[in-house]
Amino acid sequence: MKKFIYAVMFVALVSLVAGCGAAATPAPEKPAEGEAKPAAGDLTAGVAIYKFDDTFMTAVRNNISAAAEGKIKVDIVDSQNAQPTQNEQVDLFISKKMSVLAINSVDRTAASVMIDKAKAANIPMVFFNREPQPEDMKKWDKVYYVGAKAEESGTMQGTILVNYWKAHPEADKNKDGKIQYIMLKGEPGHQDAELRTEFSIKAVTDAGIQVEKLAEDTAMWDRVKGQEKMAAFLGSQGDKIEAVLANNDDMALGAIEALKAAGYFTGDKYMPVVSVDATAPALEALKAKTLLGTVLNDAKNQGKATLMVAYALAQGQAPSKDNTGYDIVGGQYVWVPYKMVTLDNIKDAE
Ligand code: BGC
Ligand code: CA
Repeated sequence: MKKFIYAVMFVALVSLVAGCGAAATPAPEKPAEGEAKPAAGDLTAGVAIYKFDDTFMTAVRNNISAAAEGKIKVDIVDSQNAQPTQNEQVDLFISKKMSVLAINSVDRTAASVMIDKAKAANIPMVFFNREPQPEDMKKWDKVYYVGAKAEESGTMQGTILVNYWKAHPEADKNKDGKIQYIMLKGEPGHQDAELRTEFSIKAVTDAGIQVEKLAEDTAMWDRVKGQEKMAAFLGSQGDKIEAVLANNDDMALGAIEALKAAGYFTGDKYMPVVSVDATAPALEALKAKTLLGTVLNDAKNQGKATLMVAYALAQGQAPSKDNTGYDIVGGQYVWVPYKMVTLDNIKDAE
């Protein structure tokens, strides 16, 4: 028994000594007084994208990389649509002492936790495309957001449909004076999904046109899901459908495939389809006259603004119009404007 007690005491002592050793590890050396700031080449940005397999975010990601050239080293990771994965990536960026973080959150309500972590490590951060809640943005003055006003894109989408409806009386197939429509929604809870859904219809009713929603469902920003949902709606609603609104181009392009399979866009069988993003394949669909209109979601400027804000922060500067090229609104926000795109002004989007 005694032997056993000694053994236990010995183990306890060893772990105590080991513990002390860990605690005694010297803290990283502080730069000596007057020492120069890190050279530009030493600046690093940890960038996390909610998932690489997203058409619009791929464009934003490529523009972040392009804008970073010669300024700051960017480490861009794929969060694979899983917030726990992204949280680990943020932990790793922090442990690597990145100069700044740029986060396209998987779940925008998770921003709060990531802000707490970055703040504790004093690493400034920029969120983009997925807007944190205002109360989370107020947690720290070194948190920024780069994005676009979702309601603006919704209003523009609705306006495209209004213009078409007014110019084409035959669009009212059942002659009841109302637009019978289908809504393909992006990911529920995403500001762009919620507000585009609301404001596109508001623009139509504000123009004095009545609407009847035949069906609404999420297709999660995804082309294949958009096609599947649209095929199902064509099965259940058939000829009653007079217009299709999609929160993004990918879902609209999927819907167009389903419409084609049902005989649309040949002869005089037509369906107005309106979406948002103005991606390259969507511009092709505009030219092919299968897509009626879209709204330019400016990936180039969103990517560039994200990088420029991050770059200013990485250098210890407060982002301003001078050092980023973009207006900083309310001290923490950069808003990149949307633009309506139809066949008439397609050049502007290309
Ligand atoms: C875009 C979508 C994209 C989403 C990702 C939106 O602003 O319109 O195409 O899937 O952002 O968060
Ligand atoms: Ca009608």
